Amino acid sequence: MALHEYECPACGGAMEFNPKTQKIKCPYCDSEFDVKDYVANHNSNSTGTPAGETSSQTTTEDNQPLYVYKCGSCAGEILATESLGSMKCPFCSNNVVVSEKFTGEFKPDFIIPFKHTKDDAEKTYRNFVKSKKLVPKVFLDENHIDEIKGVYVPFWLFNATESFSGTYEGTKVRTWSDSKYIYTETKYYDVQRVGTEDFENVPVDGSKEMPDDLMESLEPFDKSAMVPFNMGYLAGFLANKYNVDASNSRQRAIDRMKASVVDDFKDTIKGYSSLRKISENVATRSSAYKYALYPVYVLNTTWKEKNYLFAMNGQTGKFVGNLPCSKSRAMAYYFPIAGVISLISFLVYFFFL
Ligand SMILES: [Zn+2]
Ligand SMILES: [Zn+2]
Repeated sequence: MALHEYECPACGGAMEFNPKTQKIKCPYCDSEFDVKDYVANHNSNSTGTPAGETSSQTTTEDNQPLYVYKCGSCAGEILATESLGSMKCPFCSNNVVVSEKFTGEFKPDFIIPFKHTKDDAEKTYRNFVKSKKLVPKVFLDENHIDEIKGVYVPFWLFNATESFSGTYEGTKVRTWSDSKYIYTETKYYDVQRVGTEDFENVPVDGSKEMPDDLMESLEPFDKSAMVPFNMGYLAGFLANKYNVDASNSRQRAIDRMKASVVDDFKDTIKGYSSLRKISENVATRSSAYKYALYPVYVLNTTWKEKNYLFAMNGQTGKFVGNLPCSKSRAMAYYFPIAGVISLISFLVYFFFL
C-alpha cells in the first residue's frame, strides 16, 4: 500500500486542508496552494514504508484486524482499522493518506470539502454545552473538547425515478338547517393520482460505524458545493472508505424516496372533508448511484457509563448533540488507535536503533 503525505515544499511541515480558504496550507510557514495544483505537482508518495496486514495479535478488543503503517516522517507506527484511510500520525502529527482506500473501486466520485474549522466546531460545542444547564462541567474540559475530530464520512448518493399510483375516496360534507331539520349532504369522490417523481443524490452513509439516525439528523448537505474527489482535501482530516457497499445501502435510499413520493402526491389532494386510502403503489423505475465523502465533526464520549454523541455538519455548521448512542463501541473504531503496542514499538525503535 502506498502512503500519501503532504509535505510543505518550503519548510517540510505537514500541510493541511484549510476550510476557510479552501486551499492546502502549511501551519508552520503559512505557504498555501490550490488543492489540485499541489496534488498534481507534488508527488507526495511518501518514503514511509507501509506494513501489510498485521498478524492476528493486532486486533481491537472485539477482534477487528488492525493495519499498521509506518509514518514516513518519524517512523512511528500508526494503527488503524481496515476502513480508516486518512489519519494523523499520533507521534508527530504528520498527515497520512493510504492511497488504496481512495483509488480503484474505492475512489469517490465527489467530495464536499470541510467549510468549518475545528475551532468552529469547538465553539459550537461549548455554546451547546453551556446552554444546557444540567450538563456536567466535565463536558467543558479542554482535553475533552480536543477529542472533537473532523471526519470525512462515506456516502452513497442515489438517483432514481419512482412511479406512483394511488386511489382514494374523498368526501365533501355540507350541512345546513331550516326551522325543522339539520341537513347533512355527503358527496363521495373517486380521487386518483398517477405520476412519476425524480430523485437526485439521496444520501445514505456507507459506514457500519456511523449511526444512521445521526447521519440523517445532520442533513441537509448543500450538494452544489460538491466537487470532484481529490486526495488533497483529506489532508489533516480523518477519512474512512465505505464498508457497506452500494447494493446494501440502496434499499434505505429507496425506502426514503418511497415515503416522500407518497407524501408528495397526497399533498396535491386538497379540498376534501375526509380522505380514505384505497390503494397506493410505488415502484422504482430506474436507479443509479455515486460515491461521495461528506464532512462531519464528531465527539463521542462516555460519562458515568452513559454514551454521549455530538456531531456537527462540517459544511453547514448544523449541530446535533446529546444523542444517546447505542453504537459507541463501533464509533470508537472510526478513529485511529494509537495503542500501547504501537507506542512500545516506537519507543523500542527510538531508543535501541
Ligand atoms: Zn511550510
Ligand atoms: Zn510520525
